[in-house]
Amino acid sequence: MSGSGSAVSPKTLDRLPDSRKPAFRMRRILHGLGPVFILVVHLGCLLLLWTGLGVGAVVWATALYLVRMLGTTAIYHRLITHRSYAAPRLVWWLGSLVTASAGQMGPSWWKAHHLSHHRHVDTAADPHSPLTTDNGWRGFWHAQVGWLLSPDFHPASLPPDVEADPVLRLIDRLHIVPPLALAWLSWQIGGVEWLAAFCLSTTLLFHGVASVNSVAHLAGDQPFATDDGSRNNRWVAWLTLGEGWHNLHHAFEASVRQGYTLRRGELVTLPDPTYRFIRLLETLGWARRLRYPSERALQSRARLRPRS
Ligand SMILES: [Zn+2]
Ligand SMILES: [Zn+2]
Repeated sequence: MSGSGSAVSPKTLDRLPDSRKPAFRMRRILHGLGPVFILVVHLGCLLLLWTGLGVGAVVWATALYLVRMLGTTAIYHRLITHRSYAAPRLVWWLGSLVTASAGQMGPSWWKAHHLSHHRHVDTAADPHSPLTTDNGWRGFWHAQVGWLLSPDFHPASLPPDVEADPVLRLIDRLHIVPPLALAWLSWQIGGVEWLAAFCLSTTLLFHGVASVNSVAHLAGDQPFATDDGSRNNRWVAWLTLGEGWHNLHHAFEASVRQGYTLRRGELVTLPDPTYRFIRLLETLGWARRLRYPSERALQSRARLRPRS
């Protein structure tokens, strides 16, 4: 800055609105690399036409999918965003690195963007509702992919609790580094074929997570009363290791377990691998204070006429 006629003094900088501060602009540029990365991995899947996919590459792609999906669901979603359990800082940091390597952006962006969905669910201000912008295929397309290019992609503000942690803030701004490092590692281990496997795994993971935004607001049953279109969808639950029980999630955002439903007035648990993983963390001493809704609370939210 020094020596330049356009240098801005610290006092002047303080008076600038946030949107004109260099740090704000830099943050938007860094966050904007996320959609570019997602586009590139989609194109990277074309490499499969040349390389095919051997057994080793299939195992690699599958392992990357499962581990990074658990990072997204157990760490970004249930820990950092909804605080449905407590965990040592190391779990937050390592989990964020793993999840960022899936192209899921950084923890500050993810939490801010997702909380905006909960706050404005299925209204015009929801960043990725399939029910408001357009109905039918266009609404689905917006919730699945189109939201990446919408102005709502950039949250108005970032969550203070995540921003207060310098490690998480660094991972958030440099979120593009872990996925590039993992792409490079894949290439080092198995050449172009494993790089293609990385692209395939990352693309499938992106669509798996996005299916919670799209499919789980369009298809499935609604055993719990909520003011939105959220639904329990078993196919999305399998793809996302338990996040497809989305009607329960909107009814009880802080519940560490999402696999609940009601059948003829009886409370029934559903497969929820993410919850099992968090229970494993608990056994190892890396998770504590798991939060559950009481059976009475669950019963009290029963929709009088369940929709399916
Ligand atoms: Zn939702
Ligand atoms: Zn949520």
